[in-house]
Amino acid sequence: MSNDLRVWIEPKSHSIEGHTAKCSLYFNDRIIWGPRHCHNNTVRLRDALNAADPRFRLDVSPKGKTIEGHTYAISVKAGDRLYLDRLSTHGHMLELCNAIEECLAAERRKVSQNTPNPVPELPPPSQAPRPSPPRHQPGPSETPPPVSSPHHPPTPPESPNSKASTRPSSRHGFEIAIICALRVEHDAVEAFLDEEFEIDGFSYGKAPGDYNAYTTGRIGSKPVVLAYMPNMGKAAAAVVSSQLHMSFTRLKVVFLVGICGAAPMDSRDRQTFLGDIMISTAVIQFDFGRQYADGFIRKNTLEDNLGRANPEIRSFLQKLEGKSTTKRLELKTLQYVTDLWTRDDEYVYPADDGNDDNLYSAEYRHKHQDSSFCSICAKCRLPNDPVCDIAKESSCAVLGCSAEHLVKRKARKFTGPCFHFGRFASGDSVMKCGIYRDKIVAKEKVIAFEMEGAGSWDSIPTVIMKGACDYADSHKNKAWQRYAAATAAAGMKAVMEEWRSSS
Ligand SMILES: [Zn+2]
Ligand SMILES: [Zn+2]
Repeated sequence: MSNDLRVWIEPKSHSIEGHTAKCSLYFNDRIIWGPRHCHNNTVRLRDALNAADPRFRLDVSPKGKTIEGHTYAISVKAGDRLYLDRLSTHGHMLELCNAIEECLAAERRKVSQNTPNPVPELPPPSQAPRPSPPRHQPGPSETPPPVSSPHHPPTPPESPNSKASTRPSSRHGFEIAIICALRVEHDAVEAFLDEEFEIDGFSYGKAPGDYNAYTTGRIGSKPVVLAYMPNMGKAAAAVVSSQLHMSFTRLKVVFLVGICGAAPMDSRDRQTFLGDIMISTAVIQFDFGRQYADGFIRKNTLEDNLGRANPEIRSFLQKLEGKSTTKRLELKTLQYVTDLWTRDDEYVYPADDGNDDNLYSAEYRHKHQDSSFCSICAKCRLPNDPVCDIAKESSCAVLGCSAEHLVKRKARKFTGPCFHFGRFASGDSVMKCGIYRDKIVAKEKVIAFEMEGAGSWDSIPTVIMKGACDYADSHKNKAWQRYAAATAAAGMKAVMEEWRSSS
């Protein structure tokens, strides 16, 4: 065989498919991938692979039906012949493409070792078909950035010396910090560190009275310090950021990175989707005020409000919000987050695993929808009626939340994570009510809800970057948290490349 088989996936519009099969891939009767669930159309992939290179055998067998979202198409080519052209498929088929490519690379090495005149190598990656990023179709005028796979590493987007170690000589050489509140958030940020500095016994130390824990390292060419919060919330964020400033005295910007609840529409009336990246231009403390018998009054005097960001941060945000910069950020973010998927499949797009991006109407409660099942949820009719504790911790699928109550939304043309800039609502509790959310959005023109921004905003120049993991209503689904944390961290890496050091 010529080892020139190529199998790749590329994005397509989302479709809902029933999966009734599972499949495993064999090479010369040795299993190299699977079993994974698949659509019964996978028999067409099986036949195409068998025709293109009979050493590969894809076993497809029946299993119980599940419903999945398809956002990719898979193709098979050997030599000049296309054996399969864009068959609708599932995102995890990228793993199958990689398994085939790894297997063939090993075969090519064997051939070149055993042949006095080595066979010609495959065309360079720039000419070879390769897995494309999901959910985004660049327009004709765009030049998409290189997309990585384990076999086609990404071209560094920064200057050629970006990979050189830039370890500052002391703590005072850092101007960028990152603060994360949750483990899921700092796990994602750490996944983008290109180098860690304080290993092998080296330490920058800390200022007296600083009880924070840090990781120092490099993202691209920029030295960064990552600070961990002991728990969520404004008070913890305020303590961590003030101690951070004690040890790292020349910080210019702090990225508060993680996950948040998103308003269904942003301040420019664009729809938000889960995994989109929300960036703060201002922060309001929506639950800071007085509760009166007839309603809540937010404290809104000059002294009670958080100040504006400093001029350097405001100018930086203005630049990021510009159309061409935002477009570049979105393309890079897509590249970085899909690159992360190839390294760690915990961060993959959850809709590919059957967790839909559902926005329910604001008044539709997350509760046991079958009234015969739960006496507490059965009595929940008005907005303030309680639901049972089990319902609060259960998914919409378990409770039977109905698709009839989904908000009908236009399909998005741009399919990667989008950036949304606007005001953040920072509060002392998690927003879990669609009706209250909509009231705050209408009154304060906010685009996102979170709990830490107000804590660091006042003490240190802060840019809040959070991935939307829910719609700040009662319908929580933890399945989106890792993906949203990953898009926020990938977006932060892209944004950091726009930051220019003043030194
Ligand atoms: Zn219940
Ligand atoms: Zn629900």
